[in-house]
Amino acid sequence: MTTTADLGLYGEIQKYGAADMTACFSCGNCTAICPLSENDATFPRRMIRYAQVGMKDALLSSKELWSCYHCGECSESCPTEADPGEFMAAARRYAIASYDVTGLARAMYLFPVIGTAIAVTLAAFFALFMYTAHGPQDAETLALFQFIPSELIHNLGIVVMVLVVLAGLAGIVRMTRRVAHREGVGLRTVFGDRGAVARSARAAWSSIGRESLAQTRFREECDADPVVPWYRRRWLIHALVMWGFLGLLAATVLDYGLELIGVKATGTPVPIWYPVRLLGTVAGLALVYGSSVMIVERARRANRSVLKSDPSDWTLLALVWITGVTGFAIELALYLPQPPAWGYWFFLFHVAVAMELVLLAPFMKLAHVVYRPVGLFFAALAREPEAVPTGRQVGVADG
Ligand code: SF4
Ligand code: SF4
Repeated sequence: MTTTADLGLYGEIQKYGAADMTACFSCGNCTAICPLSENDATFPRRMIRYAQVGMKDALLSSKELWSCYHCGECSESCPTEADPGEFMAAARRYAIASYDVTGLARAMYLFPVIGTAIAVTLAAFFALFMYTAHGPQDAETLALFQFIPSELIHNLGIVVMVLVVLAGLAGIVRMTRRVAHREGVGLRTVFGDRGAVARSARAAWSSIGRESLAQTRFREECDADPVVPWYRRRWLIHALVMWGFLGLLAATVLDYGLELIGVKATGTPVPIWYPVRLLGTVAGLALVYGSSVMIVERARRANRSVLKSDPSDWTLLALVWITGVTGFAIELALYLPQPPAWGYWFFLFHVAVAMELVLLAPFMKLAHVVYRPVGLFFAALAREPEAVPTGRQVGVADG
């Protein structure tokens, strides 16, 4: 990969929220204190240096960007108060915007007014689009899928998913090509022979299973503040939001699956203990609790990781919270003895915001759901013996 200096890089990352790093004199305290920085995968000092000297390709091809969970320990140890933890968060925003081919992520990050306008307009568009095809509101039972036909939601959902997969894939390919080239990883390294496949399988398990789904390193190495009670621990709150989101997605897919195999039509009344309904309820509880704690902690600036908030952080949290809370309102309406008319409007609003959340996922912080496991996969692969060269040197000292 050709290394060219981009003299505007540092200023560009500042636009994404990085503090003034001119005071940083590369002492390396931040890297030394970071609980996740190790061996070849050293950060944040190396990342900061890339930005200072304009090494854009090196920065965007760094798997290390995605190993940081923004605990903020490095920022506390920095003698010049350059806030390296926030730099890492800003660099990830910059990376998400750079991998995005549409330019939408950049617009949403750099122009909060435009970002808010896009969010509001999209929700209004989905709501109006569905409203134009709405049916009658049954006063006896809450017939949600008579009000908004399930076929319409289904077809709109397919269009949204196709757009998301296309945008997400384009970003993932751009990121993976950069990191793979930097790490010297090719298809042969991953699938070349039985040993390669075994190493890749272990790296996939470590990055997706242990670190992403089970949050092992976040829990054990990056969230060790004994003062915070267990129900407010960052790893737990993050896990609840993630598992809540995945649970709701699974419940939605299962619901359509049951209709496809003829078990029950979507919208058929079921008791609260019906397995798919129970899964949706538990997942919804996790999502609402997790996102509510995140909002309160961020508003109170309760820990080092939320001392600063980007407008995009609030937009994402608002969308997640609204999706969860309106979902619960619908569930409440479904089990009330007399179906309330507001149940229909909450349903319309819920579907519109949920569609919007999914559609905007590749252009917001939520994109880390796919970028982080890819970065962690390369990091885990580099730890495997005889797997790959230990990363290419690109002209900046380790650490
Ligand atoms: S601790 Fe890190 S960010 Fe702070 S001056 Fe040293 S190298 Fe720079
Ligand atoms: S914020 Fe935490 S995980 Fe991220 S670089 Fe700093 S010390 Fe490491």
